[in-house]
Amino acid sequence: MSAAPPPVLSIVVPMFNEESVLPLFVARLRPVADGLGVTYEVVAVDDGSTDGTAIGLQRERRGWEQLRVVRLRANAGHQAAISAGLMRARGDFVVTLDADLQDPPETIAPMLAAAREQGVDVVYGVRSDRSSDSRFKRGTARAFYRTMGRLAGTSAQADAGDFRLMSRATVEAVNALPEYGRVLRFVVPALGFPSETVEYRRAERAAGTSKYPFTKMLRLSVDSLTAFSLAPLRFATLLGLLGGLAAVALLVYALVAKATGQVVAGWTSTVVIVAGMGAVQLLALGILGEYVGRLYAASQARPSYYVAYDSAATGSTVEAGA
Ligand code: UDP
Ligand code: MG
Repeated sequence: MSAAPPPVLSIVVPMFNEESVLPLFVARLRPVADGLGVTYEVVAVDDGSTDGTAIGLQRERRGWEQLRVVRLRANAGHQAAISAGLMRARGDFVVTLDADLQDPPETIAPMLAAAREQGVDVVYGVRSDRSSDSRFKRGTARAFYRTMGRLAGTSAQADAGDFRLMSRATVEAVNALPEYGRVLRFVVPALGFPSETVEYRRAERAAGTSKYPFTKMLRLSVDSLTAFSLAPLRFATLLGLLGGLAAVALLVYALVAKATGQVVAGWTSTVVIVAGMGAVQLLALGILGEYVGRLYAASQARPSYYVAYDSAATGSTVEAGA
């Protein structure tokens, strides 16, 4: 295996069932990448796709030597797929972008220029116009980032997703944090490297459908919050405290009522109390469970993805699925 010198730029692209968008993506990215005037590699991370993405990538690779394909054994999720790409990218700079052409490849050039000319380590792609995202997506995103800013004291770059360029030093720092459920848009700013922003217009998905159902968005939010904030735990403590105080007050009231001979025939109040206390306890337990789950996953220290195949490691023969 030849150890070619590392390229100036690595382009990391997570792909989950993107067969319909793949030819469009390659047709658009390739001339842009070829025109950058620097050596580059594209690290396509096939996140356990079950459609024709793997075959499509092999086909694209035949005519494009800069394309490296890494296939994960199972769907590990967007963040884990990017992480797999970051671990393998060799460039002095690494840019991550979505395969669906919502992040325009043309923006890579100004990002790279900003990093090189201004000497910053991170260049965030910032969406100047989010009208291509649904109202629901924009609304929930705004609420989510506001909550994170308040509760976690950490903030993501406003209106930035995972379209960003990072220096080698930043990528090494990220790779050194083998955190379970790592959400890069919060981890990267928290590292504190000097940064810049480049605006871009977020386009519509070029083909296919979103691979981010509501459940995955919710998972991302919970992971972000529990990774950076103990506020939900404190909230649980507060709830428990308030519930406990209410219970003591009720106890006193019940004893006084009994002593003074009043008969309480309160079926409704009993149900309300039992249900109310149950709800408080279950909520607190659920919050606790999220953190225990995180600890559990961290103590197992299991990788968050498994690589099935890497075109750079195995040469041209396909060992995928072995
Ligand atoms: N993606 C992935 N694994 C997943 C979900 C998504 O690698 O489990 C990739 C997907 O192929 C795309 C990017 O992550 O390149 C962003 O996903 P998508 O465009 O579906 O999300 P949306 O833009 O709808 O939020
Ligand atoms: Mg998208």
